[in-house]
Amino acid sequence: MACRFCGGGDAWIKTVRDEEGNTFPICDPCYLVYRAELVIVPGPVCVHGKCLSCGTWMNARELVDVKPGAAGKGDAPGGTCIGCHEIAATEGGG
Ligand SMILES: [Zn+2]
Ligand SMILES: [Zn+2]
Repeated sequence: MACRFCGGGDAWIKTVRDEEGNTFPICDPCYLVYRAELVIVPGPVCVHGKCLSCGTWMNARELVDVKPGAAGKGDAPGGTCIGCHEIAATEGGG
């Protein structure tokens, strides 16, 4: 998955449709530039992941240690949210 305009983006890049009905991936910075002409559509990738520590569903970008399918619901990614990650880091820091 790479942004059609700049080739950038990450695994959870947006998917959009243009006025001609073409769908393609686009990164956040490019979306901000072109959003007047684009409609966000559901992409092939699940963008929501689950924190396996506190059970919260959130944007997978906010999880660290993300693993596909780890949430136990289809291909939904699972990982550790920033909050739980900091707690673990503090406790482990002795
Ligand atoms: Zn881009
Ligand atoms: Zn958490």
